[in-house]
Amino acid sequence: MDDYWQGDGFSLTVKDITDNENSTAENSDLHLPPINPIIPVKPEISIMCMKCEEEIKVRHLKEHQEFHNALEMFRFTMERKPSSVKQLIKRRRAIMRRLNETASSENPVSMKKLQKLNLAYELLKADIEGTNTTLRNVDEFVHIQPNIQGHGTTLHCALAFGVCQHANSRWKTSMEDRAGFFSIYDGYYGSMAAEKCARYLCEVLEKKVENIYHTSLKHENINAEIVTAFNDAFEEMDRILLYGVEEQSRNRWSGCSALTCVLRGNNLYVANAGNIRAVLCRGDGSIERLSNNHSPWNKKERHRIRKAKGDVSKSEKTALVNGVVKSTRGLGNHGDPNLKASVIRTPVVNCLTLEDTDQFLILASNGVWEVFSEEEVILLLEDIIPDIDVKAIVKRMQERASALEVGLPVPKWDEIPRRSKGCGSF
Ligand SMILES: [Zn+2]
Repeated sequence: MDDYWQGDGFSLTVKDITDNENSTAENSDLHLPPINPIIPVKPEISIMCMKCEEEIKVRHLKEHQEFHNALEMFRFTMERKPSSVKQLIKRRRAIMRRLNETASSENPVSMKKLQKLNLAYELLKADIEGTNTTLRNVDEFVHIQPNIQGHGTTLHCALAFGVCQHANSRWKTSMEDRAGFFSIYDGYYGSMAAEKCARYLCEVLEKKVENIYHTSLKHENINAEIVTAFNDAFEEMDRILLYGVEEQSRNRWSGCSALTCVLRGNNLYVANAGNIRAVLCRGDGSIERLSNNHSPWNKKERHRIRKAKGDVSKSEKTALVNGVVKSTRGLGNHGDPNLKASVIRTPVVNCLTLEDTDQFLILASNGVWEVFSEEEVILLLEDIIPDIDVKAIVKRMQERASALEVGLPVPKWDEIPRRSKGCGSF
């Protein structure tokens, strides 16, 4: 049975394994407890600040980081904050003096720099005076209801998840072979496109991939065949959306970005049409991006859209196709022929061989990457996989980055850092 959770143009397919008599909590090899009904609560998530190593609530993170930046700009630290407005003004004067000394009539102090300095000043002043109101728009009524479980672990920040293990002869005969399908659909102008993709794209793609493994015996160029299968599946799915069943938007039909991954043994295939990002965290502390960013910020995409007589508008913060959509590829949009000509359904497919030391694959839509850096997203995994030491992973990433920066050999790791205590065992 399939069930889906939906909200704000996003939909997630959940396989309800409790209906499958081979996979109930009592007799499954995985000892999975039943999946609880999805509860629409805002999860409260904390994240470690990489600068002061304090646990910060995610909804306070941006303000906290801005505060760090303001302190740095005025040469203060968390331990040595300005004690009075007088001290702050003094420091500001010194900075202004230095800026003026280096400026000339040909090379004046940049307005942007001055604005930043003023904002930082206001922030620090408000902190000293206790009038900091940056959180006034944040909903404080957050309930914590961490009752979604799996693998003996409670997931504090997950709304729903599903795992199933089944020796499906249609996919492969033995259980040793890893096979998997993961996807994210990020909808806009209604949820129909995202919901339908969540329901059908997996099936459409499965048929095509299955066909390859059953007919092509030599697999001489399996990657090329899989790429074609993804292309065909996205095309077929887009045709399904053309019927407009349950379409609610009368002017501009709904659309969605789609990112789908197929895992076969050690081969991972990632197909992306839109601005959803997949990253692989590798054992050596590096992060590999597996998807292309299909947004108007991408030069090639902009060029393609203008060739198709589409329009790209940009401001400092947003870039839109035809003034309406942030993504340059995706499915749906059938009600708007001009948009359809610009926002194409063709996915870009990446083929990758996984190594034993690879740690995890993270798929997240645009909304996540706009707020969090890749390091921060890894820190957020703490609730989901508490036995892995995510802080150690981020430290490795930083060590690797600084070794690369100064031209030293990159440190090698081949083990996933695990916590020694305080976590559930598998
Ligand atoms: Zn901090």
